[in-house]
Amino acid sequence: MPELPEVETVRRGLAPAMEGARFAKVEVRRRDLRWPLPKDFAQRLTGKTVAGIGRRAKYLLADLSSGDVLIMHLGMSGSFHVFQEAGKKALGRYHQERAQHAAHDHIVFHMSSGAIVTFNDPRRFGSMKLVPRAKLDAEPLLANLGPEPLGNAFDAAMLARACKGKKTSLKAALSDQRTVAGLGNIYVCEALHRARLSPKRVAATIASKTGAPNERAERLVEGIKAVLNDAIRAGGSSLRDHKLTDGELGMFQHHFRVYDREGEKCPTPGCRGTIKRIVQTGRSTFYCPVCQK
Ligand SMILES: [Zn+2]
Repeated sequence: MPELPEVETVRRGLAPAMEGARFAKVEVRRRDLRWPLPKDFAQRLTGKTVAGIGRRAKYLLADLSSGDVLIMHLGMSGSFHVFQEAGKKALGRYHQERAQHAAHDHIVFHMSSGAIVTFNDPRRFGSMKLVPRAKLDAEPLLANLGPEPLGNAFDAAMLARACKGKKTSLKAALSDQRTVAGLGNIYVCEALHRARLSPKRVAATIASKTGAPNERAERLVEGIKAVLNDAIRAGGSSLRDHKLTDGELGMFQHHFRVYDREGEKCPTPGCRGTIKRIVQTGRSTFYCPVCQK
């Protein structure tokens, strides 16, 4: 499943094609995504201008001139592609010529900029939803999300407060979207390795009894921000279905330090450990038992 860096990469790909442009035509080829699209979906978009495209955790949020917000989620296998109508001006590095394989293009946005934006999703766990901006705070998809890890407000004090008294493992705590939003299996493993903290460590141990951050919390926040920024710079990680909107692959999977590297030498300078795989709450965890304490 795409995590924050993959979704942010998609946002950056969609922005030049959609921001400031109108939906000239909206084709809905399949309504039955993760949940059915409303009957008036195309009608509520057509003629409206996209004021901006933002992101909250793994959700893309397009602000429309109608006052609606279009919430988009990639699910397991969803992807957006940006094509350019023949004869029109290119729209930056993300545009590409129309490709052939359109069987799973469930939604097609024809933008007034000449860009054609397709949403392709073979497994149909992705979703779209229109919500009035005034009701966004109460939107159940977004209501229980923790802080944005790349936001200025997210720091060691905030993370320590969230982990105070938690008896679960750090791996489980960081995978919980209420602790911090947008992290999944890959980036939790990578952040813990950078912070030299064991995924099995009890979450509460990054905070004092009163919830004040200790040095571990500082290291962990640094590790989370660093790995996410590095991954975004590399266009995200291409595992299974993630692609950039121009069809290119994100490259961060080549920079994993522990994820999917069981049996390999730990990349921490001076560490002689070997990456180990364990299973925590049903998911694989990769870590170095020597330098991650
Ligand atoms: Zn190590």
